[in-house]
Amino acid sequence: MENGTVNGYEMDTPKNITIKGILSLLMESIDENNHSRSVISLGMGDPTAHSCFHTTHVAPEAVVDALQSGKFNGYAPTVGLPQTRRQFINFHSFYFLAFQLNIDFISFHLITICLLFCRAIAEHLSRDLPYKLSSDDVFITSGCTQAIDVALAMLARPGANILLPRPGFPIYELCAAFRHLEVRHFDLLPEKGWEVDLDTIEALADQNTVAVVIINPGNPCGNVYSYQHLKKIAETAEKLKVLVIADEVYGHLVFGRNPFVPMGVFGSIVPVLTLGSLSKRWIVPGWRLGWFVTSDPSGMFRNPKVVERIKKYFDILGGPATFIQAAVPGILELTDEVFFKKTINILKESSDICFDRLKEIPCISCPYKPEGSMAMMMKLNLSLLEDISDDIDFCFKLAREELVIILPGTAVGLKNWLRITFAADPVALEEALGRVKSFCLRHSKQFE
Ligand SMILES: *Cc1c(COP(=O)(O)O)cnc(C)c1O
Repeated sequence: MENGTVNGYEMDTPKNITIKGILSLLMESIDENNHSRSVISLGMGDPTAHSCFHTTHVAPEAVVDALQSGKFNGYAPTVGLPQTRRQFINFHSFYFLAFQLNIDFISFHLITICLLFCRAIAEHLSRDLPYKLSSDDVFITSGCTQAIDVALAMLARPGANILLPRPGFPIYELCAAFRHLEVRHFDLLPEKGWEVDLDTIEALADQNTVAVVIINPGNPCGNVYSYQHLKKIAETAEKLKVLVIADEVYGHLVFGRNPFVPMGVFGSIVPVLTLGSLSKRWIVPGWRLGWFVTSDPSGMFRNPKVVERIKKYFDILGGPATFIQAAVPGILELTDEVFFKKTINILKESSDICFDRLKEIPCISCPYKPEGSMAMMMKLNLSLLEDISDDIDFCFKLAREELVIILPGTAVGLKNWLRITFAADPVALEEALGRVKSFCLRHSKQFE
């Protein structure tokens, strides 16, 4: 083996840009000797970097209990511990029921509160579902990242293609590249709240299309889709005979007009693969606990051959640490609304700061005020800037001159846009946006 070849074959690495890759280049470009100010990163979506975001005390307590019990030092079944898988049934089913019955937003929240005190009622509600998830529908993964890998690995076959959103989350492109799965992009429409361009989806799909990926609440756009829009997506996918992969890693992290509606609500229209994790909502991205759920009452994923294929694949993966899995039932059961509300309030406050401060900067425009998740997109107007060639140039100069890290839109598929992660300390965010503003003013063209 030499020069990256094995037996004469080149070890080709996909050429995809990754978020981590570009952010570390930006970090490296900062002069270490420039110690006058601290570096502020609005690049990476890891809220644990900011002290205002921390998980609920319930989570580490559940982990400590699991660890100290001494019962979880062995291998878990590769698909996940039975009690962990089972826990998701009520967790998910409840929301399915609420939306199937079209319960309005307020009573929905009342029932949520009820649910926390009365598990018996929750169990009872689940029995009345139009369809029920079973433990067998739930597979435990190492974070949502591995759930993405599982979904794409299960669907890849020679000649197949997958429809991905633009802008999107580049792990999908990278995963598809390793699997030789052809990627076709459909646009999200900024002027329509980043809704999916359904006409392009119809135009792009053919008999080799295996799935369409929807990220809701959205990264990088901060969109939260309405019940009606999600239903239309499901109907379009059904018409085209493709599955929906619903990335709900930001599930419930919403603070705008629309409530969070899980795509699985439309599982009876089209089979849905729901992907999620504890990472964002519980603010423990390092714990690597995620899930891959087949929300599919029609039963395509209960076909013994399909089940066997998924199970075999999980034998390779190994899954997250057993004691973290064992803590999940406690974490899901005992986390109270107050904790979630607190996170959402900070996110709302910091997204408001972002939106308001960016409005003051002439060369930047935000077509949409984020309503969920932890990120938003803004457009650069290069014609107002003197010596900035594109979004990448903007981000490198900004890093060097102002010690602020922002992700160039190119990394998520939109050239000359920028992505800001607003899951940051409001004070640090104000400071960072102040620096962005002075950077922009300094590089503005001087008009007579
Ligand atoms: C953060 C993120 C993931 C990965 O989640 P992990 O649980 O940390 O692996 C997947 N999809 C999107 C859209 C994300 O923002």
